[in-house]
Amino acid sequence: MTKAPKISFEFFPPKDIEACFSLFETLQVLGDMAPEFVSVTYGAGGTTRELTHDAVALLTRKYGWNVAAHLTCVNATREETLAIAKSYKSVGVNEIVALRGDPPKGQGKFTPAEGGFATSVELIAALKATGDFKIRVGAYPDPHPDAADETSDITWLKQKFEAGADSAITQFFFEPEDFFRFRDRCARAGITGEIIPGILPITSWKGIQRFAASCGTPIPISYEAAFEHSQDHHKLSVDLCTKLCEKLIAEGVEDLHFYTLNRPTLTKAVCANLGVA
Ligand code: FAD
Repeated sequence: MTKAPKISFEFFPPKDIEACFSLFETLQVLGDMAPEFVSVTYGAGGTTRELTHDAVALLTRKYGWNVAAHLTCVNATREETLAIAKSYKSVGVNEIVALRGDPPKGQGKFTPAEGGFATSVELIAALKATGDFKIRVGAYPDPHPDAADETSDITWLKQKFEAGADSAITQFFFEPEDFFRFRDRCARAGITGEIIPGILPITSWKGIQRFAASCGTPIPISYEAAFEHSQDHHKLSVDLCTKLCEKLIAEGVEDLHFYTLNRPTLTKAVCANLGVA
């Protein structure tokens, strides 16, 4: 039996009453686990600014978890963005997932707000200068839709580490080889910082096809046949995700970051298969 991995979870802040119940149920299912950290997203276009703040405050206070609050450059001046970071600090948050972010719906391309941070690297450098946070960033084993060419994601990630990032979490992927290739290319480029694979158990086969296409993440052809013929998508998702994690662990991966989508049962089942209490 391989060594159980260290785990972490990503949650959404709830946008309405129904979503509050989903987060509550998620915490009921995962609340007794001991993740290295949990992270809370910041709505696309900066739409959940207050909700993210309130959710991270509650998770820090009530569960005693080490919380990494997400923060993007979208729709805010530098001063506003740094004020949000300060408000995270004031409720006991010591980690930030620092991102450029996606443009608000309807805007095709990211454009910096007037007086706002123009890139993730600028945001990382400004957060580093505060000396207040461990800084986590995004990384892309499959090319990000904005990558100019094959090497851009790696050279840009290197700049993020040089600007002060402490750790990177990858976009989700389904082929372990994509992660291993990325990890090797990062090492060859001189990146020595921690790179944690982001793991997305498939909660909806239809939904994942749309989502993966928008992120530029390929879905293995074998998945299509498997989901089309399976009568039990829950079991199939757990099996596929467990296999992916086992392959990563077998090649030396020690940390896994689960995108829970506030639907925790798959994550919990995969963790149980991996021997995580
Ligand atoms: P960057 O890494 O800065 O840019 C993405 C890619 O674009 C780079 O790898 C590079 O190839 C290219 N690029 C960008 N700028 C330059 C430049 N100046 N020069 C050269 N190349 C450049 N979105 C949210 O809205 N809220 C969230 O809470 C959230 N959480 C996330 C958590 C994780 C772990 C990940 C991986 C993504 C998350 N996202 C979130 C999505 C993210 O905002 C989008 O993927 C966004 O398009 C890129 O943000 P980034 O900071 O990773 O970008």
